Amino acid sequence: MYEVILYYYFNTIEHPEQFAKQHKQYCKDLGIKGRIYISSEGINGTAAGTPEQMAQYKADLRAIPGFENTEFKTDESDYIPFSKLICKTREEIVSLHVDGVDPKDGGNHLSPAEWRRVMEEEDHVMIDVRNNYESKIGHFKGALKPDVENFFDFPQWLEEAEIPKDKKVLMYCTGGIRCEKFSVLMKEQGWDDVNQLHGGILRYAKEEEGKHFEGKCFVFDDRLVVPVNPKDLSPIAKCEITGKPADTYVNCANMECNKLFVCSEEGAHIMEGCCSEECKQSEYRRPFDPENAFKPFRKWYNYFGDDFKHRHASEQAIEQS
Ligand SMILES: [Zn+2]
Repeated sequence: MYEVILYYYFNTIEHPEQFAKQHKQYCKDLGIKGRIYISSEGINGTAAGTPEQMAQYKADLRAIPGFENTEFKTDESDYIPFSKLICKTREEIVSLHVDGVDPKDGGNHLSPAEWRRVMEEEDHVMIDVRNNYESKIGHFKGALKPDVENFFDFPQWLEEAEIPKDKKVLMYCTGGIRCEKFSVLMKEQGWDDVNQLHGGILRYAKEEEGKHFEGKCFVFDDRLVVPVNPKDLSPIAKCEITGKPADTYVNCANMECNKLFVCSEEGAHIMEGCCSEECKQSEYRRPFDPENAFKPFRKWYNYFGDDFKHRHASEQAIEQS
């Protein structure tokens, strides 16, 4: 059994390049895999290894001055859901593309139990602060699910959403980091009662058994999808090829398209891993491998060169988790 961790911490890092270089070497020496982003505003990562390795990693990260209070969401997996180790700098550890957003000015952090109570008892508007392809396969009942493809599209969405400023706002994302910034934006723009789910869906799943959450949670590693409510595992999304219930994803086999879409095994066979007839005719199509059709992210590196890697959805996405 392996351990998969997800974490972030906002704290000024004076020399991000140097920090990233040292941290990468440290992770290599420890033998863990994952994706870790460093910026002058802090660290955002997801990584996996044996429980011993991850215990060491957590202790060592918390031993860095300023990072003592880093919190980790922990899950188990029977394989390491990363093909390699990426540790590098980014402009922002989660990209909102809005200057001067300081998470210290964010909303109230609600524990999973408190979140559930407020959700059940108080009038509110709830926002799913994730991308359309994530909320599609799982979300809290009654949440607004913005039809956006990137976190940095949220400011534009907010301008058009017409959410009354006197409403109690509840917001959530996978692990909490996106809310750390989006809550600041909402407060700056005049909403007073802004609340965010501390630890995100992943912690809520552990502590409240996913109550009131429908479907599953998209994650930015090779697992792609993890359960949230153990009592309700039926898919809420539909295969985009067959129209039947599904919550598995495939990256379109046309390398020039590479759209991540909800697709059943049957649909993958019918379209040979492509999202459309047009993509099926593309000369940039990967060979269809039925055995591995549902390990798209892990297989990625077998087919693509460096210029394609930066378009890798999961690499962009970790910023947002
Ligand atoms: Zn396609």
